[in-house]
Amino acid sequence: MKVLQVSAEFFPLLKTGGLADVAGALPLALADVGQDVRVLLPGFPSIRAGVADALPVAEFDTPWGQRVLLRLGHISVGERQVAAYVIDAPALYDRPGNPYEDAHGQPYGDNHRRFALLGFAAARLAAGLDGAWRPKVVHAHDWHAALAPAYMAFDGSIHRGDAASVFTVHNLAFQGLFDHGHFLELGLPHSAFDINGVEFYGHLSFMKAGLFYADRLTTVSPTYALEIQTPEQGCGLQGLLRGRSRQLTGILNAVDEAVWNPSTDALLPARFDVDRPAGKAQCKAELQAQLGLAVRPDAPLFTVISRLTEQKGLHLVLETLDTLIGLGGQLALLGTGVPHLEAAFRERAAAAPGSVSATIGYSEALAHRLMGGGDAILVPSMYEPCGLTQMYGLKYGSLPLVHRVGGLADTVVDSTPDALSGGSATGFVFDRFDAEGFTGALRRAFELYTRAADWQRVRDTAMRQHADWHTAATRYLNVYEEALQ
Ligand code: ADP
Repeated sequence: MKVLQVSAEFFPLLKTGGLADVAGALPLALADVGQDVRVLLPGFPSIRAGVADALPVAEFDTPWGQRVLLRLGHISVGERQVAAYVIDAPALYDRPGNPYEDAHGQPYGDNHRRFALLGFAAARLAAGLDGAWRPKVVHAHDWHAALAPAYMAFDGSIHRGDAASVFTVHNLAFQGLFDHGHFLELGLPHSAFDINGVEFYGHLSFMKAGLFYADRLTTVSPTYALEIQTPEQGCGLQGLLRGRSRQLTGILNAVDEAVWNPSTDALLPARFDVDRPAGKAQCKAELQAQLGLAVRPDAPLFTVISRLTEQKGLHLVLETLDTLIGLGGQLALLGTGVPHLEAAFRERAAAAPGSVSATIGYSEALAHRLMGGGDAILVPSMYEPCGLTQMYGLKYGSLPLVHRVGGLADTVVDSTPDALSGGSATGFVFDRFDAEGFTGALRRAFELYTRAADWQRVRDTAMRQHADWHTAATRYLNVYEEALQ
């Protein structure tokens, strides 16, 4: 089956979050189950630089009358290659840094055009823009690509009808909302600006376009698929999602073992796995030394690798940090985000340098070393569609301590007495989203840590969890087949 994956990010070329990891891993996993997969990406500088031999395949006009070139080349992912279409539109994409915002953190004023073009080009490919390769399924990811199903639905060409669209929600909170005046630039029929269409409380909503027009919908965990149908987490779209619940599937993300595997990870000072765990102690000692923490094997080392935003619930870590330090633990954080959280963690690190380290920035290498050296990873998100860091934590024997929501609830088994005696425990889960709830789980983590054999047993179970892309790709394939029916 010819499948076109459409996304704004792609690991290893451009990443601001989990979307990139999924967009980078899924095409190869689909290829491994026999599919003919290509990706479509906006021509941001890092994407253009990373797509080798990108040759022109077609030219077309945008709905607002701009001539655009489409190129086709290849992205090298380790030893392998992914065929990639790149939209060559420098006036829209040739801007350094974050793909969505300017240097002051403000969304670009022409984002509606920049990302409408992504969906438009996908629909043109589905309609035969590249005479040599036409997708049967267009799989669009998040609001950036969400106009693809809408453009496909209104495509009057002869090919309409035999290509299907699938839309995946990675985070419902980021919706791509624009002033309704911009709708007129996008070339969709007037009838689409309707409650049964792309209109959302008087605004143009890209997210709603994907949810309304795609043949099939998925999101990144079974629990989140249920949560987004409720008023608490539906972001105003719960009614539409409830109405489409038969077409909505939750498919858990997975771990790309070519990137995240402690037995082969070249970014770690020592490699380890469940049968040869010794390297983990060396990873911890070197990490403590690198970060200026007291080099103490007996101090449980908690880590955070995260965007620093309200969603991630990190105020709970700040509120309970004295308890964590008082119990003899250490915290090592890596993240960027809102200034007040960055400043708060910096201050706490300056006040207790032997116990707390805060690296404000983005570092793929340090993220791997934190996974390798940490004893536990804190993911207290308010909501979490899937979450990847807790899955990497499991794999690296860094036990996740998580809030029971979304994909966190689906991937971590709490260390209750029953789960401990039954051998299924993999981490610590709390229900109440407040300092008391969080502290309860933290104290249980400390207690378990003092029982070395029990901690080791939980860690072994965690490291043995399977979260492979093969399983996820097979599930996506089922969804594609349903969409084509
Ligand atoms: P989200 O997509 O909401 O940010 P996920 O847990 O799904 O959260 O994915 C986050 C991804 O981004 C993970 O691969 C994580 O390792 C990575 N990440 C987050 N912050 C940083 C950072 N400061 N430096 C390096 N990697 C980071």
